Amino acid sequence: MTIAAPPCPFCGLPVADDDLSMDHVFGDAFGARAKVPAHRSCNNQSGGDAEGRLHHPNSLMNLVRWRHGKAVKDIPATFSSGRTARINPSTGVVSSPHVMVNKVESEGSISFQAEGTQAQVEAAYEKWRSRHPDLPLPALSDLPTDAFESVVYESAEVSMKLDLQAAQGTAVKAALGACTLAYGPSFTATPLAAALRAAGQTPPAQYCRVAATVLDSTDALIAEMLAEAHPGPMLVPREGSKEYDVILLPAGQETVVFVHVLSTLMPPYGIKISAPVPGLSPGVSPVLPVLLREDADGRISATDFTEILMDVLAADQPDSFEA
Ligand SMILES: [Zn+2]
Repeated sequence: MTIAAPPCPFCGLPVADDDLSMDHVFGDAFGARAKVPAHRSCNNQSGGDAEGRLHHPNSLMNLVRWRHGKAVKDIPATFSSGRTARINPSTGVVSSPHVMVNKVESEGSISFQAEGTQAQVEAAYEKWRSRHPDLPLPALSDLPTDAFESVVYESAEVSMKLDLQAAQGTAVKAALGACTLAYGPSFTATPLAAALRAAGQTPPAQYCRVAATVLDSTDALIAEMLAEAHPGPMLVPREGSKEYDVILLPAGQETVVFVHVLSTLMPPYGIKISAPVPGLSPGVSPVLPVLLREDADGRISATDFTEILMDVLAADQPDSFEA
């Protein structure tokens, strides 16, 4: 007897035990917990590298982590003089680990200029002086006062960026993982899975991006339709929450995929995939979004708003209607 190996969400092929790794659907560095079995190699290729790029200190996603109390590395910056700085986003402290030194040594002329803290400048000057024992260079304390100038910076230049390709790759990977957990292993053989895999390999510029406002208006519409009759999960995370989810928005024969990581909508804010949303129940094709959200226990729970609406409509039918 053989037990069928689970298919890998990222390539659709069976995963043998010796190549099995448990992949975090939304990335453990973001604090998410849900895991899906996948090939070790597929896990690295499909998301590991891309996710890593989103955690660089000057990645915008690094700021998202900071906003939610996750550990953040110091952010590199520069003062207007060009001297490097570091900003600790948690404390707001700006520091510069390096002294900036300009030395000009040409025939008949020699100059030394250093910018840093007093200790940094002193160390740099003494090092330079020790390299020129033949020159009559005075000790730092003997230099005239006009050799020093104090500088204070009120601002530092920070260059934050978002690697759109990495963000899209991470979003698509989350969608494949969450769908495989919610729909079961058979999801990996669906047209949506194949189209998602293709999207993960395609540069974002070639994709139609749907604005994030679509999600807010859909959320408002669903809330209005269900009102108090069936208060359930919302598509757009509530203020102060830390949600991880995948939203499959049906658009005819296409699906618009939205992914939230730490309640932040991942760029490119709605990826259009050329395959329909599979129903969570047989015979029910969703017309409203399907929400796959990581719960407190690290499991993926699925909400099909089409089914909820059908339940609500059925409950609203007056008794006399059946008679
Ligand atoms: Zn694989």
